[in-house]
Amino acid sequence: MTTLDGKVAFVAGASRGIGAAIAMALAEAGAAVAVAARTEHEGRVPGTIGAVADRIVEAGGRAVAVPCDVTSEESVEAAIATTVKEFGGIDVVVANAGVLWLGPIDSTPLKRWQLCLDVNLTGVFLVTKAAIPHLRARGGGSLIAVTTTGVDMIDRGSNAYWVSKAAVERLYLGLASDLSTDNIAVNCLSPSRVVLTEGWAAAGGGQRIPPEAIEPPETMGAAATLLARQDASGITGTVQRSETLVPRV
Ligand code: NAP
Repeated sequence: MTTLDGKVAFVAGASRGIGAAIAMALAEAGAAVAVAARTEHEGRVPGTIGAVADRIVEAGGRAVAVPCDVTSEESVEAAIATTVKEFGGIDVVVANAGVLWLGPIDSTPLKRWQLCLDVNLTGVFLVTKAAIPHLRARGGGSLIAVTTTGVDMIDRGSNAYWVSKAAVERLYLGLASDLSTDNIAVNCLSPSRVVLTEGWAAAGGGQRIPPEAIEPPETMGAAATLLARQDASGITGTVQRSETLVPRV
């Protein structure tokens, strides 16, 4: 396995939680990282793009904080352009930005349904679409979308969140075929267990999770780093769970 020295990674949704852990791990493996999300100033939920970029730089890595709202095509295109201007190109994309809504369909407000689809699905579409020409220009690369094991939990019902993530898996599985001749690996990745992130806590989750069901965010960092090293000759067109790629901690 090679490291990510000389590679550039764009991580969407990196101001906190799993995205921040992935950004740190990619930087540790040698990539220059664009830390992309909306939060530039500390607010109700902890975490900013500047603080994550600073942590990477303090640890000896390369990073730039890039303001980005994945629901806005204009914002995404500006963030991608800033990254290319700063680091000269893009090799790896991690489409991690996400919002959680686990309420049953019959009590889901339309605006929550639309928010899930806008951030979790359209956001992946916009980030991926804007980045593809830059990966092509480098002769290949790796696209990673963060999904969830909830996609498979049909016996537990339905909600806007799982529906949005299922659509992302269909999007990426088909895209792997479309981009194979461009030497671009396309994979989905989810935690095998629950990661107790700021977002999870803010959404009211976490209180009744037994310790054995909790996964450290670093596992997603290591798994994303492994997928970031792929091109179309390696792992592509797959839906991965973190602990099938890296040992359980
Ligand atoms: P989190 O702590 O809430 O972090 C979510 C990230 O997404 C933040 O950086 C947030 O940044 C960003 N984001 C939200 N809306 C955005 C927008 N419109 N534009 C740009 N960025 C946006 O959540 P997390 O638990 O780390 O989850 C990260 C990903 O893992 C999500 O896709 C989630 O569905 C998935 N996942 C998590 C778990 C888990 O156990 N935690 C399990 C399965 C899958 P800003 O607010 O600064 O924009």
